[in-house]
Amino acid sequence: MQGKSKEDEILAILRTVDDPELPTVSVYDLGMVHEIKIVLNNVAITMVPTFAGCPALDFIEKDVKEAVEALDWVDGCQVEFSFQLRWTTDSITDKGRENLKKLGIAAPPETYQPGDSWTVSCPYCDSAYTSMENVFGPTACRSILYCMECRNPFEAMKPVVEYSIS
Ligand SMILES: [Zn+2]
Repeated sequence: MQGKSKEDEILAILRTVDDPELPTVSVYDLGMVHEIKIVLNNVAITMVPTFAGCPALDFIEKDVKEAVEALDWVDGCQVEFSFQLRWTTDSITDKGRENLKKLGIAAPPETYQPGDSWTVSCPYCDSAYTSMENVFGPTACRSILYCMECRNPFEAMKPVVEYSIS
């Protein structure tokens, strides 16, 4: 029982650690937390990197480590990124999608399959009447789109799905 409450404390902390590139969106809500192991007062966290092109992993590692080690009972925290695990945009929680929208970033479609045409609704007015302005965007993981309805430019996260390897 005690072990579980410690894990809950860690999860609560991870809900407060934001992705450096996405302020207000926590690493937990991005679906990056894979496993938490607690041995005595040491914590080991395995995380799944999001987009391979995002250079923020060092910062995330540092932020998570510092936040967890700020807990009274924690002696040390190790953060490891597993590159074997596949992160998909479906791992983003509902709260994460909501917070992305508040940043003016459209979350990727939830039921996207490879080959589907990718339609994005405007995070400001929900209109689907949008156009791809610049597929390359500021980072490898986002695109710039333009809403024809409210005439705002906005960003959209590209869908990442698990490709089945046969
Ligand atoms: Zn709009």
